[in-house]
Amino acid sequence: MTLLAVAVGGRGLVDPQEPVLRADDEALLRGRAAFETVRVYRGEPYRLIEHLDRLAQSAERMGLPSVNVLELGGLAEQAVEAAGVGDAVLRLYWTPGNGEGAPTSLALVSELSTHYDALRERGQRLIALRGVRAEEPWLLPGVKSTSYAVNMAAEAEAKRRGADDAVFVDRDRIVLEGPTTNIWWRRERTLFTPALELGILAGVTRAAVLELAGGLGYEVVEGAFPLADLAGADEAFTSSSIREAMPVTELDERSLGRGPAADELQAALRAEATLDP
Ligand code: PLP
Repeated sequence: MTLLAVAVGGRGLVDPQEPVLRADDEALLRGRAAFETVRVYRGEPYRLIEHLDRLAQSAERMGLPSVNVLELGGLAEQAVEAAGVGDAVLRLYWTPGNGEGAPTSLALVSELSTHYDALRERGQRLIALRGVRAEEPWLLPGVKSTSYAVNMAAEAEAKRRGADDAVFVDRDRIVLEGPTTNIWWRRERTLFTPALELGILAGVTRAAVLELAGGLGYEVVEGAFPLADLAGADEAFTSSSIREAMPVTELDERSLGRGPAADELQAALRAEATLDP
């Protein structure tokens, strides 16, 4: 990750090379902090309010102090402006510090990888891996915490098996989500995606796709679906802030057809994100 700009609560812009957290910060000691990853288009963070709302909810569910949304929004603006690039990745963090002092808010802007455009051309290969279905509040359903080691390990396992990414299924092979994505598939004019009740993250891009699908003539059904439904789909794609709508062309080493929905939704997302205000 090439850091372009960093802004810290109470300090403002700092040198991106400078350390900004205490050694006893809970984010480091236990992965107990909330974060967000936001796509910046033409110097504007896409759906920033939705990301700040989700950050606030994640913090609340983890029992962290309330997020200072105004401060973080301001830091985000400062960091994006200082980065001085149109397309970028904005990361927001809210950590309780050592639990005694004040929480810390951080906004980081980094370069956007060019890898995703190539991957969108080729389509991704997914491997289904057993994941945890977060059914109890202490399993933190829908919370975006910095405890992402399991998600990163699943992505690494998928790569070790020659794929690009994983899709989590529960013990009954019900489809959940990817380590950093939501998953979608199409049969004729209907799009299917796992329901939030399955304990998955309420993706900001997922919400955007839900809004945009109707205008493109697709019906959307949310629910609990077996992996066989995904495997037998006409086409599939994932959604996330950074990868946007990304076609899936292989699942568990069996090819999946390409279709129009992923490309249409990608175009619709881009159009919405880059619309002049
Ligand atoms: N699911 C998980 C577990 C994620 O970590 C993410 C994003 O990183 C997503 C889904 C997609 O969410 P969004 O569209 O808000 O980026």
